Amino acid sequence: MCFYDNYKFLCGDYKWGVMRQQCTKEYRIGETCGMRMIYQTIMCDSECTWCEKIAKKRRRLEKLTSDIKRWAPMHDRKHSRERAIEEYNEVMSEMRRLQQELQTRRMTLTIPRRAS
Ligand SMILES: [Zn+2]
Ligand SMILES: [Zn+2]
Repeated sequence: MCFYDNYKFLCGDYKWGVMRQQCTKEYRIGETCGMRMIYQTIMCDSECTWCEKIAKKRRRLEKLTSDIKRWAPMHDRKHSRERAIEEYNEVMSEMRRLQQELQTRRMTLTIPRRAS
C-alpha cells in the first residue's frame, strides 16, 4: 500500500493529494500498487468543488424561483419571466448533472484508510 495526503472538506468529501511514501511491494518509480492509505489528513475550511458548484446553482434557482413568482402578475415582466423560466430549466439540469457527477465520484473514490 502507498501513502497519500488526504484532503478533507467541510461537506465530508475528500480528495487525494500527492503520494508521500511508496509501497515496499512496488519499486518502479512513480508506480503504485493501487492501495491508498492516508499519510496525513489536511482539513480544508471549504466545501469540495462539486458541493460549492451545486450550492451556487441552488442559490441561483432560489433567486429565479422568487423572480418567476413575483413577476407572474406583472404584464411588463412577461419576457423577463419567460427568460427566467428558461434559465431555471438550464440551471436545474446543470445542477442535476453535477449531483450525478458527485455521486459517481463518491462511489469510485477509494475509501480513505489509515494504517493501523
Ligand atoms: Zn502500495
Ligand atoms: Zn462535497
